[in-house]
Amino acid sequence: MKLRRFLSIVPKTVQLWAWVLVGCALLIGLVVGYKTADQGAMLRTMTTYGSAALVLGIVLAIWLLCLGFVFADARRRDMRSALWVLVAALFPHLLGFLLYFVMRHPIAATCTHCGMTVSNPQRFCSWCGTAQFQPNSAKGPLTANPSQGASQ
Ligand SMILES: [Zn+2]
Repeated sequence: MKLRRFLSIVPKTVQLWAWVLVGCALLIGLVVGYKTADQGAMLRTMTTYGSAALVLGIVLAIWLLCLGFVFADARRRDMRSALWVLVAALFPHLLGFLLYFVMRHPIAATCTHCGMTVSNPQRFCSWCGTAQFQPNSAKGPLTANPSQGASQ
């Protein structure tokens, strides 16, 4: 996936927090380096601690961006976004992310009349009641196969 497309999905607030996180990590690393440094090797200790903290901060920021991506992506697929963020955050070794990408639904359609999100099995918008034409079937909403609706 292209980075620009990834970032266009991640909410702006989450991106801001990721930058704040990197900045804070660098600052903490420099301060810790400054406090623990001996008189002679001040610059070297600060550089070591600072760069280690920077790497840690960047890793955490990427993790945060991925959680933001899962949140926004789950929402536009009409899935439980908060639940999936928890799954992605709590499962070890990125298994939660893997699980999300295996389980995720196709992108939910939007109502042609009011623009709200309508999940794919729905034949009528739950916000305004307009009949929905499903893009993944050639038939119109009213002539759809009843067994197809029952299986979903
Ligand atoms: Zn509608």
